Amino acid sequence: MIDILICDAHLYLDRDWEIAGGWIAIEKNRIHSAGGPGQPRPEGRRVINAQGRLVTPGLVNAHHHMFQNLTRAYAPIARSGLFQWLQQLYPLWSGLDEEATYVSSYISMVELLLGGCTTSTDHMYVHPRPGLMDAGFAAAYDVGLRFMSTRGCMTRAQENGGLPPAAVVQDEDTIMADCERVVAQFHDRAPGAMTRVALGPVSLFSASEQIMRDCLTMAERHDLRLHTHLAEDEEEDDYSLSVYGCTPTEHFERMGWATPRAWVAHCIYPSSSEAARLIRAGVSMVQCPSSNMMIGNGSADVMDLRERGMNVGLGTNGSATTDMASMWMEARNAMLLGRMRNGPASMVARDALDMATRGGAACLGWGDEIGHLRPGACADLVIWQDSPIAMAGALTDPVEAWLRCGPMMAGTTIVNGKVLVEDTHPLQPGLADALRRHAIQARRIQKLD
Ligand SMILES: [Zn+2]
Repeated sequence: MIDILICDAHLYLDRDWEIAGGWIAIEKNRIHSAGGPGQPRPEGRRVINAQGRLVTPGLVNAHHHMFQNLTRAYAPIARSGLFQWLQQLYPLWSGLDEEATYVSSYISMVELLLGGCTTSTDHMYVHPRPGLMDAGFAAAYDVGLRFMSTRGCMTRAQENGGLPPAAVVQDEDTIMADCERVVAQFHDRAPGAMTRVALGPVSLFSASEQIMRDCLTMAERHDLRLHTHLAEDEEEDDYSLSVYGCTPTEHFERMGWATPRAWVAHCIYPSSSEAARLIRAGVSMVQCPSSNMMIGNGSADVMDLRERGMNVGLGTNGSATTDMASMWMEARNAMLLGRMRNGPASMVARDALDMATRGGAACLGWGDEIGHLRPGACADLVIWQDSPIAMAGALTDPVEAWLRCGPMMAGTTIVNGKVLVEDTHPLQPGLADALRRHAIQARRIQKLD
């Protein structure tokens, strides 16, 4: 007898494998088996009737900054572009401490579970105090989300030609010592890991050449993923030309980062030939559609990049540009952006779902175990909400209906074989306390007290 049997669902198991009216079985923390209506199925200790509902792999969030929900929808920056937006928020984020990081991570993770995400990265790059990576991992353990945290950093303060104030930058030796510490403590290489670590300065306009090279060397030594923002904004082009005498992508290549272990956020402004070089080098990219639209500074042509051979994932980006963290919404916005750019034949729901699952998993170097539901995969899946009003009349294609109708929340979210959301309700016993503490920290960070 297996642990959980989900019956009578439309199963989207992988990019080329769907079963209508199928069943899927979970044993411990792995997918045990799946089959169609006529195929014999195992007995389940727990049976979930998912009649008429869509089951997909848990969505993979390949770019986020969880601490930023402490400054969500911050009114003074409502009309700001990226650089002004950052410069106004850095002084507030300098108030980050372990408590603020823990509660913002906790709330982010529960929010992500409700939007169907089961694995997320966090690009944690503001370290005014020690121990903030530890706080993020503590939240992941308490919530139950699968978590790859990127130990981000900034080394170039305003007085050295960078963007951030001195209070939120660190020197290279301090950063690398902390990278070694968190890798030793939290990077689990074992199959089925719940926590892993990646490395990555936040962006070339706040990172020295030395820290770029140090992170690359350490990533090669420990076989880690590398992550940064690349070519997000036109102002970044101007900055790179004046400081490095080349484009951001050329600088990225000169630093040795154009390798298959790197995935980059945004990638909006590379020229066509630069994009071709990144593709040849095996670099992955993550699009953050809501953030791109909120900042209003363009977005990458992801279907073109995919056709040319680039792996593309999707991300929510920080809660202070997107202001909501739903991977379902990012998949929907990716589809809408793609169709608006290249016409209705260019992109359908399955393209967006593939980016949100297989694409994100490959960004994190985790495609063997997550982002699909083949037998042996991690038991990370979503039974999407039964939404009779939103779905009324949608009879012909459950995957297309899932992304066109809505808004859609996860009905049941299972991570590592454990049910973490049920009937759209998060099951974390610490949630009410975390929300109360988050309210205190958000007021403190925004200097409202
Ligand atoms: Zn970002």
